[in-house]
Amino acid sequence: MTMKKLFGAATLAMAGGLASGGAHAAPVSVVTSFSILGDLVSQVGGDHVTVHALVGADQDAHVFQPRPSDAAQVSRAQLVVVNGLGFEGWMTRLVESSNYRGPVRVASEGMAHPLGMKDGDPDHDHDHDHGQEGSAGKGSEGAAPTDPHAWQNPLNVVSYVRNIAQALTEVDPDNAGDYRQRAEAYVLRLQELDQWVAQQMEAVPEGRRTVITSHEAMGYFGERYGVRFLAPQGVSTSSEPGAREVARLVRQVRDENVTALFLESITNAALLQQIAAEARVTVGGRLYSDALSGPQGPAPDYLSMMRHNVTNLKAAMQAVE
Ligand code: ZN
Repeated sequence: MTMKKLFGAATLAMAGGLASGGAHAAPVSVVTSFSILGDLVSQVGGDHVTVHALVGADQDAHVFQPRPSDAAQVSRAQLVVVNGLGFEGWMTRLVESSNYRGPVRVASEGMAHPLGMKDGDPDHDHDHDHGQEGSAGKGSEGAAPTDPHAWQNPLNVVSYVRNIAQALTEVDPDNAGDYRQRAEAYVLRLQELDQWVAQQMEAVPEGRRTVITSHEAMGYFGERYGVRFLAPQGVSTSSEPGAREVARLVRQVRDENVTALFLESITNAALLQQIAAEARVTVGGRLYSDALSGPQGPAPDYLSMMRHNVTNLKAAMQAVE
């Protein structure tokens, strides 16, 4: 009994000593809205953080419905990181209902050129949400809804990573040097990735760079690398495309030189398979647009996700029927 007590006291004293020394302080608990941000926080934070992504692998953040367990996760966090640009409209209510009082960092903040955004209206989520309703397809009237999928251009992710490093530094200033170093090392990998993607896409003749996907998730990628993406659904997956929209897309596929059609990991494949059959275009594979795969899949982290997508896009665009 006495021995046990002594042992317990010694263990406690040791743990206290280590914690105050800083080297083995408890990791910063970070909650992110979705899996891709989860990976980016892990890359910057390393051993100094534990990360929980609310919308996990292969899940769709556009239509996510938080559960009470998600509010509990948020309430225990020391830092919350979101994408912004209207991507996760459910997050505001979730944070409020969780009574979380810590920082909420917008990873896309300060990013150079958001797509489909009205000038001078960068953070108006409510307008954006209304704008999305009933205007998922192309050709709708009024201002285009903001495209939140900024991570599809690796150069935008440079802003994400630096914002994350800054946010971690504010919560955990002791490890500021590590965060800065890890972030800048990762920025170099993003720049390498950008160069590689550009080379891969330049190898495909321009006339063969038209591809169909489920929803408009690839706008930033298309703009950066000169690929044209057509989709039956808009920048959100929350509304189903109508029969007219699908018929127009099928016509477009026949009239224009569409080289491949890709399913997405997060959306129902049935609609795209119908379009593929009607327009007689082959399915080129599966793109990871809004979520990583599980650890055994082909896209367990951001860099491998981009490489997977690009490798498959290139192969499908170059394939000769
Ligand atoms: Zn999306």
